[in-house]
Amino acid sequence: MNIIAIDIGGTEIKYGLVNEGGEILFSSSLLTEASKGVEQLLEKIYKIVDEIKLKTHIDGIGVSATGQIDGKKGKVVGGTNLIPGWIGTELVKILEEKYKIPAILENDVNCASLGEMWMGAAKNKKNFICLTIGTGIGGGVVLNGELLTGEGSVAAEFGHLQIVKNGKECGCGNRGCYQAYASTTALLNLVEEKIGKRINGKEFFEEIHKNSTPYIEILNEWVDYFTDGLSSLIYIFNPSLVVIGGGISKQGDFLMEIFKKSLEKKVMKNYLDILTLKMAERGNDAGILGASYLLIEKNKKINQKTC
Ligand SMILES: [Zn+2]
Repeated sequence: MNIIAIDIGGTEIKYGLVNEGGEILFSSSLLTEASKGVEQLLEKIYKIVDEIKLKTHIDGIGVSATGQIDGKKGKVVGGTNLIPGWIGTELVKILEEKYKIPAILENDVNCASLGEMWMGAAKNKKNFICLTIGTGIGGGVVLNGELLTGEGSVAAEFGHLQIVKNGKECGCGNRGCYQAYASTTALLNLVEEKIGKRINGKEFFEEIHKNSTPYIEILNEWVDYFTDGLSSLIYIFNPSLVVIGGGISKQGDFLMEIFKKSLEKKVMKNYLDILTLKMAERGNDAGILGASYLLIEKNKKINQKTC
């Protein structure tokens, strides 16, 4: 079985061909050019599918995308207006009518969670949560091997847990949201506030590895916020595994040990005894893997019905 998998991000579209064994047979990427709107985005998707279809047989199209997605309807239901016209797009219907093969659409963090379950850090795990730390904080919850989607299909928006009363403003309209304190953007804003310099994540961790005191103080403050939110999530879900993704996952064991020490002060031992904390293993590939996994699951259901 060959699946065309497409991961639509705010700046880049990653795509590839994935087989049922979870092997990425090839992958590539192009710019989203989000501001040009949904029509232009659809043209890019068609071009990707048409080119791959010319070369090989295709069994389905799996799409992972930014924004609030109703996976059951295959439709974009909310989010920011990053891609004009994107909200309301019934992508699964559009692709299935055009290509006459099954398609799926799911939120990018949910896809990344399933990608990690299928072929990465959460292999053989059925109950785990996934946090991606970047511009904001995204969440994915897998319970008994299935995504927790909620009634409106937009559950697990961890970034908007309120952790500080009357705190910093967040794009959602509330104040004090988790992502306003514990995202990578929040970390770099803290550096700017305290040191007066705008740097990137890589430069920040270079300072940390040089044992630079003001940067270490900033890291400790940020970690404290990060584990404030994470400890609540651990109490809600009692997971066996927490997978942490996004650019900071490159910091590996070094940062993980700091997270663990901080959590030990906040979470009761019986929750921590069964808990493993891991950095995501599949990086940018997790989205296309998860989208492929969902497409394979959809094909299984279709086949069961026709048998
Ligand atoms: Zn918010």
